[in-house]
This record gives sequence, structure tokens and C-alpha cells, in this order.
Amino acid sequence: MGGYGSGAYGLLGSKVRKRTVEETFCLEIKGFKGNLNGRTLRMSWNNGEKSIGIKTNVDHIVLFYYADEEPIKENVGIESTKVGFGERLWFCCPECDKKTARLYLVGKYFRCRDCHQLTYSSCQESGDPLDYLYLKIRRLQRKLGLDGKGVDPYALPYFKPKNMHYKTFIKLRNQLESIQDERERAFLSHHLNNWC
Ligand SMILES: [Zn+2]
Repeated sequence: MGGYGSGAYGLLGSKVRKRTVEETFCLEIKGFKGNLNGRTLRMSWNNGEKSIGIKTNVDHIVLFYYADEEPIKENVGIESTKVGFGERLWFCCPECDKKTARLYLVGKYFRCRDCHQLTYSSCQESGDPLDYLYLKIRRLQRKLGLDGKGVDPYALPYFKPKNMHYKTFIKLRNQLESIQDERERAFLSHHLNNWC
């Protein structure tokens, strides 16, 4: 089947986003919502040269792919947390078991940002657009009650602050999430072009 090449959003709503460095991909949990039904999804990249099979189950997915000719099969746990009236899904990183919304393929394995050491702090530069996005994120997080030092810029609030309308909460929360996505993309293109 044809490639889900550059920048493609793959099959059946699942997302594989091509990054700026060849073979660096990000699986996003968002794409799996409603697709955890026992079917096997197949996505390809690099113009169809490589592909990944994903068997979905309610509480885990199984990834099948080749890395350096080596067949890799890996289970990735799926967890859900309650958010308002809905739920939010997470991958459990196969290495550290931390809940994460994205797994990155670097080298042979899909892991969370921390396990692949895709941290931003080691390559900070002044005037970076990420700083601007970071400030926007912090402002929204504060409004949403995520205050204090050391709040993860990727943290989202689970609970509505008192005195905030539910509608406002959802609106701000969605805003926060999309700026976080934007920062993530900026971060990745920055980081992967300046590997350090
Ligand atoms: Zn990890």
C-alpha cells in the first residue's frame, strides 16, 4: 500500500507524524481514541519503504516493525484517566512506564521524550520561539490552577478550578493543549536539526 509519507496523518485516525530527521516519528495517543478495538492498523513511512503494524487492544497496543533489519515487537500499555466528564488516554512508556501522550522512535525503539533524552534544556538558545510558547503555556496553566515551580510544561489540569465555568475550563484546556502541541513541534524541529 502507498506511503503515508511526509507529514502524513495515517490510517483510521491514527497519527504518525514525520519529523525533520528521517526515521524519527512520533506516535500520538490522540489518534487511538476510538480505535482500541482489536484491529490491526498498518502505517508506512519513508515513501512506503518501512511500515509499522499496530495491533490495538483496549488496554495495550502491540507495535511490529523492523529496525536495522531486526524485527521488533513491543507491547505498549494504554491507561486512561478521568478528565471532567470524559477520559484521557495515555501510552505507558515501555521503558520507564510513565504516562505520556507521545512516543518517539529514535534508533530502534519508541520511547517517551525523557527516555530518548529529547530534553530541551540542553540546547537552549536565546530568542527561541519556544520561550515565547513556554510563557503562553505557563500563563494558561496558572489560570487553570497549575501553579508553582516545577510544573511540567506539558502538564494538563485534571480538575476544574473552583469559580471557573466548566465551558471556560474546557476552552482554556483545549487552548493549552494546542499550544503544547505547537511547542512540541517547534521543539522537535529545533532539537532534531541541532542534535546535541
Ligand atoms: Zn520513558
